[in-house]
Amino acid sequence: MENSSNLKPCPFCGSNKVFLKSDYTRIVQTDGGYTVYSIQCSNCDIETSRYMNRNQVISKWQNRPKRERIDDDTLSSLKSLIHIFFLK
Ligand SMILES: [Zn+2]
Repeated sequence: MENSSNLKPCPFCGSNKVFLKSDYTRIVQTDGGYTVYSIQCSNCDIETSRYMNRNQVISKWQNRPKRERIDDDTLSSLKSLIHIFFLK
């Protein structure tokens, strides 16, 4: 396991104990093998999908979409709709 302190914190628990994990699978018939990479949080144990490409899993982790805040106008429109449909 590789400690990558430059990885963003876990989106679920906020922990910085996230690691780049690699698993090597040996293929006996060919005397070769392949490695898959994922990122795991050692605090809450979530793990990403596994990728053959190390940089791809890192870039997916680092570029997660941000949670958007609802602006005040949208919020008040939503409140009016709720009022119209459920509170009349
Ligand atoms: Zn976590």
